Amino acid sequence: MPDYDVVVIGSGPAGYAAAFRAAQLGGRVAMVEKDLVGGTCLNRGCIPTKSLLEATAVLDHMNHAETFGLACDNPRPDMVKLIERKERHVAKLRGGVEQVAKGLGIEIVRGTGTLAGQRKVSVAGNDGGVRELTAKAIIIASGSEPLELKALPFDHMTVLSSTSILELREVPGSLLIIGGGYIGCEFATVFASLGTKVTIVEMLNQLLPGQDVRIGRTIQAAFKKRAMALHLETKVEKLDVDKRGATATLSNGETIKADKVLVSVGRKLNADGLGLETMGIRTEKAGPGGAGRILVDDYLETNIPGIYAVGDVIGNWLLAHVGHHEGLVAAENAMGGMSKMDYRAVPAGVYTRPEIAMVGLDQARATEAGREVITGRFPFGAAAKAVVADEPDGFVQIVADAKTKQILGVQIVGPHATDLISEAALLVQTEATLNELVETIHPHPTLSEALMEAGLDALGRPLHTMPKRK
Ligand code: FAD
Repeated sequence: MPDYDVVVIGSGPAGYAAAFRAAQLGGRVAMVEKDLVGGTCLNRGCIPTKSLLEATAVLDHMNHAETFGLACDNPRPDMVKLIERKERHVAKLRGGVEQVAKGLGIEIVRGTGTLAGQRKVSVAGNDGGVRELTAKAIIIASGSEPLELKALPFDHMTVLSSTSILELREVPGSLLIIGGGYIGCEFATVFASLGTKVTIVEMLNQLLPGQDVRIGRTIQAAFKKRAMALHLETKVEKLDVDKRGATATLSNGETIKADKVLVSVGRKLNADGLGLETMGIRTEKAGPGGAGRILVDDYLETNIPGIYAVGDVIGNWLLAHVGHHEGLVAAENAMGGMSKMDYRAVPAGVYTRPEIAMVGLDQARATEAGREVITGRFPFGAAAKAVVADEPDGFVQIVADAKTKQILGVQIVGPHATDLISEAALLVQTEATLNELVETIHPHPTLSEALMEAGLDALGRPLHTMPKRK
C-alpha cells in the first residue's frame, strides 16, 4: 500500500489548496516544499507587494491630506520599517498556512521533489537525506520564478528581480522598470509613492499589454500625472552597470541612468528538474524562459494517469487564485472525483493606483469571438462614494450580448476595482443578464453602484449620467 493517497510537489497557492482539499476529502497527504511554505504568492509575490502598496497608499493619502481638510506635515517613508512590516505580514500568513496544514494532518516534507515513478516522488531533503514517498496520485505545483534574460542578468544589487527588489532597505532615487506588465506597474506605483523617479520601458504599445486599450490609456495617463516617464514600443538595447548605478541604451536612441533597475519581463515556469522527461510527461514550449509548460486535460491530469499539474507550471493564467482553484479541482480528481476545470470567469486584478480589474471578455475579444455586443460605461466621477473619497478617476465598463443581454465581461479602473470585480465574476460565471444586474438593489452610497449604472447604460437608460446621443 502506498504511503500516501496524494503527494503534492510545491506549497504555493496551487499546491497547498490541493493538499488541503485532498486532506479534507479524507486523504493521507504529503506536501513537498524546498523553500518557504506559501510559495511565490505568499513570500515573494501577491502578499509582500500588497503590503507595500497598502503602506504607500497611506503615504499618498497623507501627502494629499489637505484635500480632505486635514493637516499632515512632512510625511515620509521609513523603508526599513516598511520592509519589516511586510515581513511580519508574510510570516503571519505563512504561519497560518502551516497551522492549517498541521490541523488537517498534512505532512510537510522539506526538500526538492522529483518524479521517480508513476506513483513515486523522491525527495532530496534540505537536511541532506533522501526519502522516497509513494502515493496513489501526484500533483505537481512547482510554480514559476522571475525570468532572467541573458542580456539583462540580475546582480540583485543594481539589477533586481521582483524578488530582490522586495529586500531594498533604502528608497532608490531613481528606478528603471523594464517591462510594463502588472508586476512592473505595481512596483512603479509603490516606488513613485515613495518619491523615487520611475521610468518604465515597455516593448509593446501600451502598459499592461493585452488588456483593453482604454485600460492602457487610463493607467498611462495616471502614471504620467505621477511624473513617471514612459517609453512604449521601446526596447532596452544595452544595460551597463557600474558602482553608481545603471545606464540603459534604448532602441529610440535615448539613454537612461538609474540607481536601480527592475527587470520584470515575465516568468520562467519551474518545469525543469522534475523528472518530466523520464516519466514521458508532455510539455509545450512556452515563452522565452526555456522551460515548457506541463500539458494537462480538462481534469488537470497529465498524459500519465494519476499525475496532475496545477498553477503557474501549466502556464495558463499565472495568477494565485486560478492556481488555487486548479489545486482544488486536481485534488478532487486525485481522490477519485471527476471535477472539470472551468475558466469561463477568471477575474484578474492589478493593484496600481487607480486599481484595475477585469473578468470575461472585453469588447475587442468579444467581437473577435464573433459576438454582437452592446457596452455600457459609468465613470467613477459620477459615483457619490468615489467623489467623497476624492477618487473620481476611472470607470466601470460592461460588455453584454446584444440579443440576449447576457453579461460577457466587465472591466474596472478605479478605487477598490480588485474587490468590486467579484460581483462581476459571479455575473459572468452564472451567465446573468443586464436585467438581472440592474434589478438587483445596490446599496447607496457604494462603489458597487457603478457596476449597476454601467448595466443601465448598456441598456440605454443611464440614471446618473447623460444619455448617449442617438
Ligand atoms: P508558486 O507560488 O510559485 O509555488 C511553487 C512552490 O513550489 C514554491 O514554493 C517552490 O519553492 C516549490 N517548488 C518548486 N519546485 C519544487 C520541487 N521540485 N520540490 C519541492 N518544492 C518545489 N497573483 C495574483 O493572483 N494576485 C497578485 O496580486 C499577484 N501578485 C504578484 C506579485 C508578484 C511580484 C509576483 C512575482 C507574482 C504575483 N502573483 C499574483 C502571481 C502568483 O504569485 C502566482 O501565480 C502564484 O504564486 C502561483 O502559485 P503556484 O502554487 O503555482 O506556484
